[in-house]
Amino acid sequence: MDISERVIDEEYFRDLKQHVSHNYQISEFYENLYRETDDFTFYNKSKSIDCCCKFWDVDYFCLQNVKDVKRVNLCRDKFCFNCQSMLAIKRQSKFGSILDHFRKDYMVVHMVVTVPNCEPEELLPLLDKMYKKFPYMMKYFKGQKKVSGINFTKYGYGGCVRGLEVTYNSDIGTFHPHFHCMVLFCKDLDLTPKYINSFSYDNGQLLRKFSDLEILLQKVWFILMNDCTVTEKSINQLREGYSVTCQDSEGYYHECFKYACKGAFDESKGAFLYKEPTFRVLYQALKNRRMIQGYGLLHNFNDLDGEILDDEVNEEYNRVIAKLRQIEEPILYIESLDEVIERCGFGCRYISKSNIKRLIIERRRELDGQT
Ligand SMILES: [Zn+2]
Repeated sequence: MDISERVIDEEYFRDLKQHVSHNYQISEFYENLYRETDDFTFYNKSKSIDCCCKFWDVDYFCLQNVKDVKRVNLCRDKFCFNCQSMLAIKRQSKFGSILDHFRKDYMVVHMVVTVPNCEPEELLPLLDKMYKKFPYMMKYFKGQKKVSGINFTKYGYGGCVRGLEVTYNSDIGTFHPHFHCMVLFCKDLDLTPKYINSFSYDNGQLLRKFSDLEILLQKVWFILMNDCTVTEKSINQLREGYSVTCQDSEGYYHECFKYACKGAFDESKGAFLYKEPTFRVLYQALKNRRMIQGYGLLHNFNDLDGEILDDEVNEEYNRVIAKLRQIEEPILYIESLDEVIERCGFGCRYISKSNIKRLIIERRRELDGQT
């Protein structure tokens, strides 16, 4: 690979500009909160999200017309579309390789766990409860909690990653919180669709039937969320639980790693984040909340490939820089995102260590035959 293959596309910078184009609105909401509360945290958040991606520190190799991006200021705000997209990609690559590794011994099942829609003021307590009850459900499958007459361990549960998503129905003003999980179950898991219930229908159309496992999960989740005791009797007597669906992920894990309010930024879904009342509800409900949590074998996992990858990235990056420095020493510049885009158009080539990392990961996937 020579330097031209490592150059960052102009398109990449244009996408960034698009991703931060609504940040000024969130910045205003934070500013309003600052005015109301005098809490300086909101002032900082307001400034930080407004400046996200706007300033770039670059090492400029003038004669070769190459700029090495050393640093960019990122806000890492929960409501910054740009930072959240990047985080989702990071999570996907981190957990993705680990889940691939477990697929040798397990079926990685995409499980969606829902509750009925709620009013804005109910969202925070409802999320608290979902977060509290979810680990209990996993404990039954792990065999840590037992229910006489029900065999939870036959499903061969090994672990789980749980991600939160909150969507909003702007027609009726209710929130729909739910978990997207990747669960390790035994390889020969029986997901044969057999049963019909009210969750099988959408607009009067029969869409799907449910397996034994799904019906069990639906009922256990309902019983837990309604503060009842999980027994053989309570399970059998319950006619219908809350909607829980399971399907073989077949190696597609992205649903679990996208960020909590993805739809919130989406114009076609009403871009509800950019309406101040819904922003405030989400801000309070998601404050200090962990978005991704691992359990069992996926709790505190070791990032098996991480260190080897970093070594390879450093080596390749240092080689590139050494070659550039043979010709000249760089000068440090600070550029705005608009200037970066403009200079891309004039043939300046931007490189960065993180782009080299991305290329190495892509190269590895190609070698593994995953693309
Ligand atoms: Zn940001």
